[in-house]
Amino acid sequence: MSAHLIDGKAFAAGLVDKIAASVTQLKSAHQVTPCLAVVLVGEDPASQVYVRNKGERTRAAGMTSIEHRLPAGTSEEALLALIDEMNKDADIDGILVQLPLPDQIDEAAVIQAIAPEKDVDGFHVVNAGLLATGQRGLVPCTPLGCLLLLQDYLGDLSGANAVVLGRSNIVGKPMAQLLTSAHATVTIAHSRTRDLAAICRQADILVAAVGRPEMVKGDWIKPGATVIDVGINRVAAPERGDGKFRLTGDVDFASAAEVAGAITPVPGGVGPMTIACLLRNTLVAGCRRRNIALDDYENS
Ligand code: NDP
Repeated sequence: MSAHLIDGKAFAAGLVDKIAASVTQLKSAHQVTPCLAVVLVGEDPASQVYVRNKGERTRAAGMTSIEHRLPAGTSEEALLALIDEMNKDADIDGILVQLPLPDQIDEAAVIQAIAPEKDVDGFHVVNAGLLATGQRGLVPCTPLGCLLLLQDYLGDLSGANAVVLGRSNIVGKPMAQLLTSAHATVTIAHSRTRDLAAICRQADILVAAVGRPEMVKGDWIKPGATVIDVGINRVAAPERGDGKFRLTGDVDFASAAEVAGAITPVPGGVGPMTIACLLRNTLVAGCRRRNIALDDYENS
């Protein structure tokens, strides 16, 4: 392997320490403790793990964590009523509804019901619109985490050719907008893109968010490029025993690391940044709602 390994785990730990220090300061200077409320509907095992982690990390950063665990049969009406209650609760700064939701609930309706200033996932159309028009809002956590890693490693992104592989509302599109705002020249590629490999090979910065295990091969990568692998895929790992899995990204790490200048691993790359940025968004939301200046975090 010749590429530099971008250590998202270490960077995220540093960011969380900085957030925790800001929370301590906020408590002493303003008697405010940011509060994140997370809602889980149903018993999806992966979602249960995510929600538990979010609660633990929120408390570890000195913030208040509220968890609402609702049965799988919860109606959309009941969930919307809970969101309305939390929107009105002056002590709650961030609201996150864990996705996916059971079939009887319309995800879009739920996301749009969250007050935009408490939408720490950054999925509300108001926040999407603010990002698209280059205005200050709450930015989706995963692409924000990718941007912070890129800026930390590369510094100024001006003029870089960036290719974002994937155009979802939660990763691909906001990633492209953040890179555009950072003055990169951005191409968005997706399942209908012709000659994906050739397009990827033009990228100084390649962000892969397709959900296809190890799709991006070493010969898709421009020598020296910076590769951010957003993918988290569970693939069978019989070598670890019957029924065992391992996590892998959307990039074929072994071949890509021979060509890239720098690359994020999976796990330990983008994943830890997502939760760190959720804490960051909760802190930012708590301060903005109370008109408390928080200069260190305003630029991203
Ligand atoms: P989606 O399934 O919503 O979007 C995938 C995108 O990839 C779509 O735009 C799709 O194109 C495109 N795509 C799929 N297959 C191909 C292909 N063969 N060639 C080209 N483009 C393709 O996924 P998400 O954006 O939600 O997530 C992407 C990955 O990131 C997943 O592995 C997910 O687990 C991971 N993830 C990781 C997070 C983290 O914290 N690290 C957080 C969120 C996601 P089209 O639009 O044409 O269908």
